[in-house]
Amino acid sequence: MGKRSTQALLLVEDNPGDARLLREMLIPPGSRRMELAQTSCMSEAEKYLGEHAVDVVLLDLGLPDAEGLEAVRRARAAAPQVPLVVLTSLDDESLAVQALQEGAQDYLVKGQVEACGLLRVLRYAVERQITEDAVLAEKERAQATLNCIGDAVICTDVSGNITFLNVVTEKMTGWLRQEAEGRRVTEVFRIVDATSCETIPVPTGIALGQNRTLQLPLNCILVRRDGVEIPIEGSIATIHDRQGKPTGAVFVCRDVSAARATSLQMSHSAEHDFLTGLPNRMLLNDRCTQAIVLARRHAKQAAVMFLDLDGFKHINDSLGHSVGDRLLQSVARRLVDCARASDTVSRQGGDEFIVLLSEMQHPEDAAIAAQRMLRAVAEPHSIGQHDLRVTASIGVSIYPDDGLDTETLIKNADTAMYQAKENGRQNYQYFKPAMNVRAVERQSIEQGLRRALERNEFALHYQPKVSFKTGAITGAEALLRWTHPTLGAVSPALFIPIAEDCGLILPIGNWVLRQACGQAQAWVDAGLPMATMAVNVSTKEFLEPHFLEGLFAILDETGLDPRLLQLELTERLLMKHSESAASILQTLRERGVEVAIDDFGTGYSSLSYLRKFSVDALKIDQSFVGQINTPGDDGCIVTAVISMARSLKLRVIAEGVETLEQATFLRSHDCDEAQGYYLSRPVPLEQFANLLRTGISVPSIGAQA
Ligand code: C2E
Ligand code: CA
Ligand code: CA
Repeated sequence: MGKRSTQALLLVEDNPGDARLLREMLIPPGSRRMELAQTSCMSEAEKYLGEHAVDVVLLDLGLPDAEGLEAVRRARAAAPQVPLVVLTSLDDESLAVQALQEGAQDYLVKGQVEACGLLRVLRYAVERQITEDAVLAEKERAQATLNCIGDAVICTDVSGNITFLNVVTEKMTGWLRQEAEGRRVTEVFRIVDATSCETIPVPTGIALGQNRTLQLPLNCILVRRDGVEIPIEGSIATIHDRQGKPTGAVFVCRDVSAARATSLQMSHSAEHDFLTGLPNRMLLNDRCTQAIVLARRHAKQAAVMFLDLDGFKHINDSLGHSVGDRLLQSVARRLVDCARASDTVSRQGGDEFIVLLSEMQHPEDAAIAAQRMLRAVAEPHSIGQHDLRVTASIGVSIYPDDGLDTETLIKNADTAMYQAKENGRQNYQYFKPAMNVRAVERQSIEQGLRRALERNEFALHYQPKVSFKTGAITGAEALLRWTHPTLGAVSPALFIPIAEDCGLILPIGNWVLRQACGQAQAWVDAGLPMATMAVNVSTKEFLEPHFLEGLFAILDETGLDPRLLQLELTERLLMKHSESAASILQTLRERGVEVAIDDFGTGYSSLSYLRKFSVDALKIDQSFVGQINTPGDDGCIVTAVISMARSLKLRVIAEGVETLEQATFLRSHDCDEAQGYYLSRPVPLEQFANLLRTGISVPSIGAQA
């Protein structure tokens, strides 16, 4: 409207003289800036306004058909958007003021009007109307926007009284805009700290003072009018006038209940074990650290109990993972039942649990708790159609005696747990510093073993077996030797079990087999009277799915006749894994490889068991041989073993023969072969080759006896 250069004006004036005067002032001769229409009564004016676009109305308040304010109202009603300037008579200023209140933009007093003033008044009236329209439109747009965003928006004046709030705020606070406007923001928008529940003063003052955007403190809770609490996040900014002076503040907040619930859920799953719902390692570490702080402060003790189920793997393997999982859940529940509210029962993964006893009076309290847990775990667990029995071993470490930090306490409890297992399971064991020495030693051996193969630190020694009848060497047992770069010679009795535990026995065993077979073939090639090469095979190697494949590959590679190879398997292995062992033994027999049962007599085999296996020889354990001719022993075990072997048509080899007396006894009881220091210690390969050349001649063995 204001952009047009020509303006359309409607003059409503019944007095022809006044009308002419105004017309002359409005349109000086030659001016084309104004289009002027005139009506002389209200009804005509209404009609005209209904049909034409008009930029401004100049209205006389004394019309024949409308007087004073009525004229103003009717003109406003006929064209609400069009600015209105009224003409009053000299004595009627008060009417003019009322007209302004009714919506007139300005007024002129008849008789005081002059051309310049008239034009200026009309121009301002038009411009003011345009500005007002724009402001109104802007405000409407702002409100519409504020009402459709998801955040709560509240505006206040400088003193913190509410001047506006949007629909979301109405919902969040329970206050309607009309009720809230003019009230203190602190009354409508009550926020408290989530943990302390103390009211947080809404920091308008600060925001206003600091002239910058402030974040609400974290963990804010908005208390709705009806008392419902809503976690919120938000910020407050200061509103400024053109001079930069603060005129109020605007709050923007949102409901973060959903986000907070998700993050709680997430931190719960980050800190808990999904299977049992128990705290996991991470949360336990936290609790343990707290317990240490408390114990130190109150001069008390705390205990870490490391619990591991005995034989859980077997249940898992034989009954399946879902049964295993349910068993773990059942164990978890029982442990929780055994614990006090202040204790933490956590699952570390697998079948390992750690229980933290905080603020203990006496270290003995842990023993009571451990016994209670052992009993609880050992009760049958009814899972599906199974009534499962499982036992546990527990290691205990005490703060501060066994460690000052979480890591050490857990490590030492773990070490003690291993000791408990070695002591026969289903028991608990307090940590002792000596265990640590062993653990450290064990660890350095494990590390050393990892590099031993590539650094060529292994060698084989060979110990001869000799026939009682002929005195001839019937074979060699290959025995592994390891020279550790700093520890020196390490006994296989020490490192073989460790190699088994950490899986290194597989590559090591493979090396031994290849070496022994290669050496045996070399002696055959050299024309030496080589009988059989015996190689010790550990349980893990034997049960490894590709064991046979690997073995036959080595035989092919070295060219050794399978009949010259003998595998020594322990009696325990055969007893424990009889099913899988039987079929492997059958294959070995078909291929001609001999099998001897090692350490016989220590594994409580029954005769019926032995019949199942295709084996060729028994090696009487050296502990029995060692007892021969000692006071109180009549050698009856040895004689029983020999006669049993006879009935099963097995060869009998006596291990650990150290003396002439032992040799004589064994020979007289019809033992087939002897092995032991009495004949020869295990020796390096050159020396063994010499033995093959020269033979061994000692009393009570062979023809010269
Ligand atoms: P083992 O199979 O029972 O081997 C016999 C052990 O008795 C050897 O100990 C041997 O040196 C020792 N010995 C031989 N004659 C006598 C004697 O007259 N008196 C006494 N007191 N001991 C005698 P070593 O070499 O220390 O081996 C210990 C164990 O380590 C072996 O017991 C065997 O179970 C294991 N082992 C050795 N080499 C290997 C191997 O290459 N692979 C596997 N899996 N195990 C091996
Ligand atoms: Ca052996
Ligand atoms: Ca043995």
